[in-house]
Amino acid sequence: MTSPALSESTTLDAVRLREDFPILQQEVNGHPLVYLDSGATSQKPRQVLQAEYDFLTRSNAAVHRGAHTLAAEATDLFEDARSTVARFVGAREEQLVWTSGATLGLNLVAYSIGNATLGRGAPASARFALQPGDEIVATETEHHANLIPWQELAARTGAVLRHIPVQDDGRLDLDAAAQLIGERTRIVAFSHVSNVLGIVNPVAEIVALAQKVGALTVLDACQSAPHMRLDLPAMGVDLAVFSGHKMLGPYGIGGLYGRSDVLEALPPFLTGGSMITTVTLDEAGYLPPPQRFEAGTQPIGPAIGLAAAVSYLENAGMSSVHAHEVRLAERMREGLVDIPGIRLLGDAPGAERVGLWSFVVDGVHAHDAGQFLDAQGIAVRVGHHCAAPLHRRFGVTASVRASAALYNTDTDVDALVDAVSGIRSYFG
Ligand code: PLP
Repeated sequence: MTSPALSESTTLDAVRLREDFPILQQEVNGHPLVYLDSGATSQKPRQVLQAEYDFLTRSNAAVHRGAHTLAAEATDLFEDARSTVARFVGAREEQLVWTSGATLGLNLVAYSIGNATLGRGAPASARFALQPGDEIVATETEHHANLIPWQELAARTGAVLRHIPVQDDGRLDLDAAAQLIGERTRIVAFSHVSNVLGIVNPVAEIVALAQKVGALTVLDACQSAPHMRLDLPAMGVDLAVFSGHKMLGPYGIGGLYGRSDVLEALPPFLTGGSMITTVTLDEAGYLPPPQRFEAGTQPIGPAIGLAAAVSYLENAGMSSVHAHEVRLAERMREGLVDIPGIRLLGDAPGAERVGLWSFVVDGVHAHDAGQFLDAQGIAVRVGHHCAAPLHRRFGVTASVRASAALYNTDTDVDALVDAVSGIRSYFG
């Protein structure tokens, strides 16, 4: 599974590493593909494709219940994958629930808390029950996946949803957070890294504010897990989600990390096969976590593919990946900041960041800018990036987002900067 381009002890050789990504070898619109849309989804190395192929061609079977050899092999591979992915985020295997992605993970948590509010679940679930007037605190910067489930939970329970404001420079307003998080706060949900601003939020400070009032913390780690080493238990969050497809893995797989006592007390969200102990026509008993939250046949091949993806990242070395991407972000900023009519969103001096910048082009709609870049083989994202309130906060409806991953090079960044510098004159 190890690529020759990767070694924990050396800096990252993105040029050689790209050879592992078949899709990056092509031309688009007559230009070498410059893929700068990894914030939306990452490309997949052949090691990930091979792991899924090997599983499907040698060991494919449903897990856990079969008495035959393939079922046992599949179960071992599936559970080994859980251990590998759990370890990648500093967790133990029983603390990692498979989900289809971050969106399901966040809905799972919100609906589970809603079920606890309805009195479903073991007596320990009562600690999560919300009363009318209780408060859920999110931030103004959230992806819709970490916003709408809380709006729905508030509507179902009578809880009130409040938001930590973002400052003009893209940093969260921690003074306002300290005012906002109080006696009535029961849940604090926030992203580790905004998918629009690329700024790493101060997890320790926000967790400390939440812990002071006994609120549950839910971290959206979608945009950090592919780019930096995470130790979720050490970060002190109660629950956290990430998406496999953003971290070199397949679609349809993601993870929900939970502190053991929290997962043990939460009632299930989806129910059905594979998550039960005994079932009568009138009621059912539930397995402990993680199985309690894994109703139905799981995405076994994608889980095995995700384990191969995180092994690939570990072979690259997460500190090398992070340093490489931070350098790309600096190069991108240096190039973009001097182009007349370009406004970077969240250009906070000294802020810790990942390799992602969103910007608006004066007088040119983001969609037009995106098409102009595409004509030169440059793939970026345009629109509100599922963070419409954040765009509104910055007085725009859409932006262009360039987001790097470990396989991007200086050449990619230079191609972007060069092309962006021609946008306004083209549409002039
Ligand atoms: N949270 C953040 C910060 C994201 O960037 C995304 C995806 O864009 C999501 C949540 C949702 O992830 P998924 O669509 O894979 O469930």
